[in-house]
Amino acid sequence: MNPFINLGIRHDIVNAISELGFENPTPIQEQSIPVLLTGSNDFVGLAQTGTGKTAAFGLPLLELLDFEENYPQALVLCPTRELCLQITNDIKNYSKKMGNVNVVAVYGGASISDQLRQIKRGVQIVVATPGRMLDIINRKAIDFTQVKFVVLDEADEMLNMGFQEDIDSILSTTPDTKKTWLFSATMPTEVRRIAKKYMNEPFELTMGTKNTGNANIEHEYYIVRARDKYAAFKRIVDFNPDIFGIVFCRTKIETQDIAEALLKDGYNADSLHGDLSQQQRDKVMKRYRDRSLQLLIATDVAARGIDVNDVTHVINYSLPDEVENYTHRSGRTARAGKTGVSISIINAKELGKIRQIERGLGKKFVKAEIPTGFDVCEKQLFSIVHKVHNVTVNDEQIEQYLPRIMEEFKDMTKEDFIKRFASIEFNRFLDYYKNAPDLNAPLEEGRRFERDGERAPRGEGAGKSEYTRLFINLGSVDEFNRGDLLGYICNQSKISGRTVGKIDVKGVYSFFEVPHADVEKVMGGFKEAEFKGRPVRIEVSGEGSSERREGGGGGYQRREGGYNRERSGGGERREGGYRGSNGGERNGSAGGGFRDFSGKRREDRGERKRRF
Ligand code: AMP
Repeated sequence: MNPFINLGIRHDIVNAISELGFENPTPIQEQSIPVLLTGSNDFVGLAQTGTGKTAAFGLPLLELLDFEENYPQALVLCPTRELCLQITNDIKNYSKKMGNVNVVAVYGGASISDQLRQIKRGVQIVVATPGRMLDIINRKAIDFTQVKFVVLDEADEMLNMGFQEDIDSILSTTPDTKKTWLFSATMPTEVRRIAKKYMNEPFELTMGTKNTGNANIEHEYYIVRARDKYAAFKRIVDFNPDIFGIVFCRTKIETQDIAEALLKDGYNADSLHGDLSQQQRDKVMKRYRDRSLQLLIATDVAARGIDVNDVTHVINYSLPDEVENYTHRSGRTARAGKTGVSISIINAKELGKIRQIERGLGKKFVKAEIPTGFDVCEKQLFSIVHKVHNVTVNDEQIEQYLPRIMEEFKDMTKEDFIKRFASIEFNRFLDYYKNAPDLNAPLEEGRRFERDGERAPRGEGAGKSEYTRLFINLGSVDEFNRGDLLGYICNQSKISGRTVGKIDVKGVYSFFEVPHADVEKVMGGFKEAEFKGRPVRIEVSGEGSSERREGGGGGYQRREGGYNRERSGGGERREGGYRGSNGGERNGSAGGGFRDFSGKRREDRGERKRRF
């Protein structure tokens, strides 16, 4: 039996949500639905986007309203058109097996007469953005005097966008007897204030701690020189072959510049910003949802409320001005219980901002290193290998060509064939990343920002003399990321995570640093350890981390074949364009001519509350 039944949701609704794949309630649904179903409480839910909060309030509304009657009984206010359509659609889906449920979406940028017509026909649930809602109220085209429930969704965003007065005016047309349910990802004082103003002893539910981002998001930052930012960004993208990401910029000009440069370089990318018409926005969003776009380059305002599942990475090409915006940006990934990474590409001077966001979120960020050309090539190679392994073969179609294919390859050994097959894609990366410079800003720049008396964050202890760098024969192909590896190391060797220094996860192996005093303990902990039936091997890494990274000495030789990954030293060289997944050619002009975006005109920064 679907556990939503136990929460008090009726069968026809449960049947509908089962078809949507809702097999178990999310934590917020589990905790809020029984409370909201009583219909007698005001409610404040502090919950991130992507936690299932639409159903948390949508399902109780469907239980509590009288659908025999056709007057507005519930009003849901939300900050954006995107979210408005999303909520409307979700509620329609939940109620598709019920009779006579009328939900109307009221939002700006679309024909008001259509919306008025729908309202006139009779509606029980109105989902609206505040501006258009007020417009309709002012035309006396709707009657809210019998509203029983008002939902304020993403309340913090509505306030950020300056809707406070509109909300006041709209709510003044609803009766005092209504119950108000407020949902917000963050709880700044402004939201507290409206909670206090509109609610009577609300039931408060906090999913996670105040202002804490979604626990499934890993936060990373990379320190690069401003002039290397674009090249570094591309390298991060290339290092993540299956990336499906949203890249945040501060200005619409910046989004356009980056999207154009990426297009030239052969990536599937487009920009989303406030100057686009609604039609253009919809088109971009459709392409992104359909995955024709791999990267969506967006401003904060344009990307508000975007709900696309399976976004793997949020990239802060420019940091936002406020912690709240960072929370909203990063909340575009790791939705519906998935995991995700939020990456910030900064220059050394911006480290203070990172610390401030860390404090705001109550979470430590991991300092990551821009992968070397070698790392990217290795990652891409294994991505190709995995793709070959997992591809679905259309036996019926390919059958007819098999004899000819076999004939072509008859003189080739299996090994030869595999090498050639993998090289088709791999050679392009080798070619492009040959002589690729190190794009990490010198550590010294970063170190200056370490706080007094505090241990350097993971990654900043790199190369420090009190650490020993260890090699381990497990890496990303074993599905380890830095966090997983840290957990595994600590578990296995019983040392504290805080003592572990820099962790560098590669393809088939990784490096990590521990204080000299812990080396023996770690080695001991891994004695006879096995991972998935394979012996785990730990070795002290050569004569020290920096030499190892330059490909020098030590027992583990990672440089094979003719690939040359020496650093250029000066870091002056810009990267040319790599032609992405389906091109094959190299385009040298785009990267070389790329501008440094910092210090540009900032067009679409709305009013900012909390500045760094
Ligand atoms: P929301 O926070 O309401 O925007 O929901 C985020 C995503 O999670 C949406 O795509 C929902 O369809 C999905 N979702 C919500 N509740 C559940 C559930 N109980 N089981 C599976 N998916 C869910």
